[in-house]
Amino acid sequence: MCGIIGYVGGKKAAPILINGLKRLEYRGYDSAGMVTIDKNGANRFRVVGRVQNLDKAVSGLDLNMTCGIAHTRWATHGKPTQLNAHPHSDSRERFFVVHNGIIENHSKLRAQLESEGVVFTSETDTEVLVHLIDKLHETNLESAVEKTLQLVEGTFGIAVVCADEPSKIVCGRRGSPIVLGVGNQEMFVASDVSAIVQYTDQVIYLEDNEMAIVTPNDYQIRTLDNKPIARETLQIDWNLEEEGMGTFPHYMLKEIFEQSTTVENAMRGRVMLNEGSSMLGGLQSKIDQIKKLKKIVIVSCGTSYHAGMVGRCIFEQLTDISVDVELASEFRYRKLRLDETTGVLAISQSGETADTLAAIREARRKGALTIGLVNVVGSTIARETDVGVYCHAGPEIGVASTKIFVSQLVILNLMALLIGRYQSISLSEGVDLLRAMGEIPRQIQHILSRASVLEDLARQYYKVSSFLFIGRQLHYPVALEGALKLKEISYIHAEGYAAGEMKHGPISLIDAQFPTMAVVTRDATYEKMVSNIQEIRARSGPVIAIATEGDLHIADVADAVVYIPDTHELLQPILSVIPLQLFSYYCALYRGCEIDKPRNLAKSVTVE
Ligand code: GLU
Repeated sequence: MCGIIGYVGGKKAAPILINGLKRLEYRGYDSAGMVTIDKNGANRFRVVGRVQNLDKAVSGLDLNMTCGIAHTRWATHGKPTQLNAHPHSDSRERFFVVHNGIIENHSKLRAQLESEGVVFTSETDTEVLVHLIDKLHETNLESAVEKTLQLVEGTFGIAVVCADEPSKIVCGRRGSPIVLGVGNQEMFVASDVSAIVQYTDQVIYLEDNEMAIVTPNDYQIRTLDNKPIARETLQIDWNLEEEGMGTFPHYMLKEIFEQSTTVENAMRGRVMLNEGSSMLGGLQSKIDQIKKLKKIVIVSCGTSYHAGMVGRCIFEQLTDISVDVELASEFRYRKLRLDETTGVLAISQSGETADTLAAIREARRKGALTIGLVNVVGSTIARETDVGVYCHAGPEIGVASTKIFVSQLVILNLMALLIGRYQSISLSEGVDLLRAMGEIPRQIQHILSRASVLEDLARQYYKVSSFLFIGRQLHYPVALEGALKLKEISYIHAEGYAAGEMKHGPISLIDAQFPTMAVVTRDATYEKMVSNIQEIRARSGPVIAIATEGDLHIADVADAVVYIPDTHELLQPILSVIPLQLFSYYCALYRGCEIDKPRNLAKSVTVE
């Protein structure tokens, strides 16, 4: 969740570290810290809150040191206080550690160290690491880190420096990502390539249970039990220009407005209109096995889980394969019966989501075929799945996911179509879907051109304390996603419900102060949805309908209507989610919330 950056080379480390932290801040941001070292000692700074506070704390200081590590924290153990912020150090301030993850046996290790007289200064699980390194240090930093990591249980991405060895960073990983960046007589260490892409495009990913010893001109990788690993650098392709906010006030709004391009990027080079099918190169090596799958289990979390729920409906319509969707955090603890006739499809924006990663590891152990659908190229899930497809949506910086959701929906359609065309989907059915998909970018632009309608509605409703979102079939996950967006960024309590469930409980909440957003496009469940809306209106509940252009009847039933263009049924969620994203955005704006960095959340959820 947190961000790690380290630098060792010939330049001043502090500005590089602060810059890297700013680029990582969207991942987790309750406190931040940095240490720079040289042979004379160390300079450590830690602050509560944003990286800009750290920037202020060091501004005007002439920090010449050319080696250091830094961290933005997303607290798991202990409040976001200065003392709990990383880097943590031993009592003599020789060793410094930044850590992402959770040391699960920290209580036991801490009790043991305390019984030996070690004094702890924080409540974190992390601090045991640095005291162990201090205790086990004999000859050099790397062997102390190695011995320490052999004692700990749980997950870690760590970077460690020692004031006595001031041109060296030792890092290690188990479960939380660490990447090395190779520059010209300088090296970088980070939890995410976005922190270092402006300095180098040559990177090396550490795998689990590996560590690296990094000096300005060299790096050595080895396993935690000291077996050397030879690994080539990878060149990464990252467009820095895509990262700015341009003229938009928030990343989230920029990303919502990028969605027609996102859809084009997801489709580019993948549509085979003449064959009514798709071309997904990343699945090709296992296509024979994929065609014969009896079952697909989609595993994911948060917004990606909602995409997975839409995906289930898409796969059910287009293929003969039965599909389950599971929350990754639940799936991994189930008693699973998986074999090579099951495909486990992991959906994750970052490709680092800890629960999703654990789920695919479990699936692999049981012999299932693992398939990835991720955005970040080279991420752990991308590397560890048997086959996969990238979103190619560019960086998503806003914590509340928007463009990745639509990208995932496009790719799920392409994936299901690819398989379905080997099964019962006809050429003309395939062509119809692809033709409709080709229209989607223009239709998205049309919805976005009327964003002011959502802004007006948000102005009317932003003060409410609760909001309900309802839909059926493909729009049920859209309702869940609408509710998630609203609660994530505006902190309004919101619930998503399958409309048919209303009378089994939630309708008891309805009154004039409890509005509902109903996704009621023209599809097989339209009439049922209209009845559900009437039931809410009969209890004085205000209703905003998201409906298909040309549906005049709905205006008589709902208090307000937001129209979206008509499209193929399987593509409707791509359009219907956009008004909900805009509504959440504007509600959060009127409520004065920090839209791109909502409280308590982090972009890349790398703890379980
Ligand atoms: N578990 C550590 C802490 O609470 C690290 C959290 C993080 O990944 O930022 O300090």
